[in-house]
Amino acid sequence: MTIMKSANLSRLTDTDILPVTLADVRRASQRIKGRVVRTPLVHSRSLSDLSGHPVHLKLETRQPIGAFKLRGAMNAILALDEKSRRRGLVTASTGNHGRAVAYAASELGVPATICMSSLVPANKVDAIRALGAEVRIVGVSQDDAQEEVERLVEERGLTAIPPFDDVDVVAGQGTIGLEILEEFSDVGVLLVPLSGGGLAGGIAVAIKELHPQVRLIGISMERGAAMNASIAAGRPVAVREEETLADSLGGGIGLKNKVTFPLCRNLLDDIVLLTESEIAAGIRHAWHDEGLSVEGAGAVGIAAILAKKVKLPGPTAVIVSGANIDPKLHQRILEGAEA
Ligand SMILES: *Cc1c(COP(=O)(O)O)cnc(C)c1O
Repeated sequence: MTIMKSANLSRLTDTDILPVTLADVRRASQRIKGRVVRTPLVHSRSLSDLSGHPVHLKLETRQPIGAFKLRGAMNAILALDEKSRRRGLVTASTGNHGRAVAYAASELGVPATICMSSLVPANKVDAIRALGAEVRIVGVSQDDAQEEVERLVEERGLTAIPPFDDVDVVAGQGTIGLEILEEFSDVGVLLVPLSGGGLAGGIAVAIKELHPQVRLIGISMERGAAMNASIAAGRPVAVREEETLADSLGGGIGLKNKVTFPLCRNLLDDIVLLTESEIAAGIRHAWHDEGLSVEGAGAVGIAAILAKKVKLPGPTAVIVSGANIDPKLHQRILEGAEA
């Protein structure tokens, strides 16, 4: 086993040159008001006892699709002009982003197509259909599905809603940061699950412009932490995809990343990487001590505290980003399985 060292993060003083601004996040907050849930921020007694300071959990598990991604998708769709909206939306995600686009589109009466490969399990296909989207099965890989997205954009004028590397999507996720500051103004540390960086980047824009002294820590899994590898390399790089309990944190950041790489590189104070058994412990703690059913990606903030991989010098907020875990896998983890 090698010890994984997280990247050294640089700090930028001039936030003006960043691709997303506080004004973008504030606009997003007005736009999506009443269309997404203003999620509760709840005190965790057990984690506060452990850290010696108040720890609060931001429960994005309470969004109607069980994850925060509704914020970004809703904002991106509402930002489109009427003509583009009528032609419809397309994406290739079968996970929380796909659910978010399907749900937001159906709420707004906009047609949405979700492209997926023939290898996607039936329950995921059914879940997306149940949210009102058209499912298009093409090819045998995620790359094939993505090619179909590009074809539909080209040939039918559909609008692709990217999962993270998009100003409106990032601004939508950033609304979580505004909500936390409104209710918990003495927050000193924020723990944020990190994959493509839409969530962390958006929250960072809101927090660092309003309360620059708050420490922002991104949490990924050791297995395939693409943003961490990219920041270490100084440019977006591909990493080998591996199976992980934090499946919503898998995948790359895109070699042509424009938005989230500069945000995360300049605004995050640190990145922490977790093992699979640490993530499993986070899922178990969420269930037994907080009464929450949480997916691996949603549990990494809790897991980082339990594993003592983060210093918590003051009041702390933890983003519990999603709930969507296969019930059988959840049960196995509760029974003690590690992966
Ligand atoms: C997408 C997702 C993340 C990571 O968000 P990024 O914007 O890709 O960094 C974290 N948790 C859950 C539950 C997700 O669905």
